[in-house]
Amino acid sequence: MSQKFTRRDFSKLVMAGAAGSTLSLFGGAKPLFANQKHVVVVGGGFGGASAAKYIKKLDSSIAVTLVEPLTTYYTCPFSNWVLGGLKEMKDIAQTYDVLKNTHGVEVIHDTATEIDAANHSVTLKGGKVLKYDRLVVSPGIDFDYDAIEGYSEEVANTVMPHAYKAGPQTELLAKQLQEMKDGDNVIICPPGNPFRCPPGPYERASLVANYLKKNKPNSKVIILDTKEKFSKQGLFTKGWERLYGDLIEWRAGSAGGKIVSVDPANMTVQTANGPVKGGVINVIPPQKVGKIALDAGLTNESGWCPVNPITFESTIHPGIHVIGDASIAGAMPKSGFAASSQGKVTAASIVRLMQGMVPAPPSLVNTCYSLVGPGYGISVAAVYKLTSDGIVSIKGAGGLTPMDADDDQLSEEATYARGWYNNIAQDIWG
Ligand SMILES: Cc1cc2nc3c(=O)[nH]c(=O)nc-3n(C[C@H](O)[C@H](O)[C@H](O)COP(=O)(O)OP(=O)(O)OC[C@H]3O[C@@H](n4cnc5c(N)ncnc54)[C@H](O)[C@@H]3O)c2cc1C
Repeated sequence: MSQKFTRRDFSKLVMAGAAGSTLSLFGGAKPLFANQKHVVVVGGGFGGASAAKYIKKLDSSIAVTLVEPLTTYYTCPFSNWVLGGLKEMKDIAQTYDVLKNTHGVEVIHDTATEIDAANHSVTLKGGKVLKYDRLVVSPGIDFDYDAIEGYSEEVANTVMPHAYKAGPQTELLAKQLQEMKDGDNVIICPPGNPFRCPPGPYERASLVANYLKKNKPNSKVIILDTKEKFSKQGLFTKGWERLYGDLIEWRAGSAGGKIVSVDPANMTVQTANGPVKGGVINVIPPQKVGKIALDAGLTNESGWCPVNPITFESTIHPGIHVIGDASIAGAMPKSGFAASSQGKVTAASIVRLMQGMVPAPPSLVNTCYSLVGPGYGISVAAVYKLTSDGIVSIKGAGGLTPMDADDDQLSEEATYARGWYNNIAQDIWG
């Protein structure tokens, strides 16, 4: 059979709709022909799942294998809404069925434990070894638990959840909020830069305050921040004053916000200005690159992965593309939208490279909505281009919710936020 069809013929076959049966007959996305190209993608979150889907959409003759341990991936976007009681876990659950059954991506639920860049292979925990022509790595972040005295993965899993990877951590924090005594305070400790979703802790504070206002009116939210300022600060602060009065208190690093240690047994956070007690304590530790990227030697002295900004190919290991939170992507923030945008750009680059063409300079985008209250949304958007300074945001493209936005605009932003989620989830996993 491999003698009879050229790749072009095969693409036509696929276009004509015969591919479904052909692919399943020959076992998912495993190469059909000796010369069929194979891309392995590690990580099925915003970056990796986007790359896998879009490679298949752009050239279905390329075999794509996605390695992801989770059968259900819970998105961090909207996980704050779950904490605030506005969504349920099922609303943020994504699966890989459509990628597998409709788009012809081979999905292996396993963990990549070793990348051999020289031999172009990935070893999985279950023992499989996958050979690749090109590899996409999008493992997201891990946490630097040791950076905070008294904190550990065990403490996070039992007493002081970070809830900064959605899933069981989100459920634990939501349960703690529900069970907390009225009158106790919720302490949120955001990390220093860089970290995923810069507005995330502040949206969380907003939606927790919204929950407390209704359910535990004698409690408040205290944000103990390492930083002196934060994303969309003016807009958040204005919204907090309007919706919650003094229910949210933000302490900057220099004003006693910086935490020195935690004492889980006494539910206390130690700051330079003394201890702060909480009924619920949400510690979001400093973040580092997902372990597999570090182990594969894809990081530089910054701890993150340097890449060619056109193709997101590693500048350390050729043939490996690093996207999403793990990559150094110039002015782009560590966000799901950015990761997905990078996934698509990478997909286009890989397809072009495999077809013997030169990858085109990318156009990248990011939009980030935050909910301050159920009918009160704010957003920031940017478009990025490549210059001699790397990936920079284009002046005048995108923007921020105006400080003087009226109630209708703020309510529309909240509606757009819901639309944004539905669209991106459908675009990636649908
Ligand atoms: C509370 C919160 C709210 C947020 N809200 C927004 C928002 O509104 N908008 C927005 O754009 N972004 C938001 N984000 C940020 C967004 O979630 C991340 O930036 C995004 O998930 C990054 O995508 P990624 O592909 O790099 O990593 P992830 O989405 O984390 O995906 C990484 C995947 O890789 C898998 N993996 C890791 N190691 C391995 C391995 N060795 N082998 C195989 N698989 C592996 C993991 O299981 C995971 O599924 C939010 C984040 C948080 C915490």
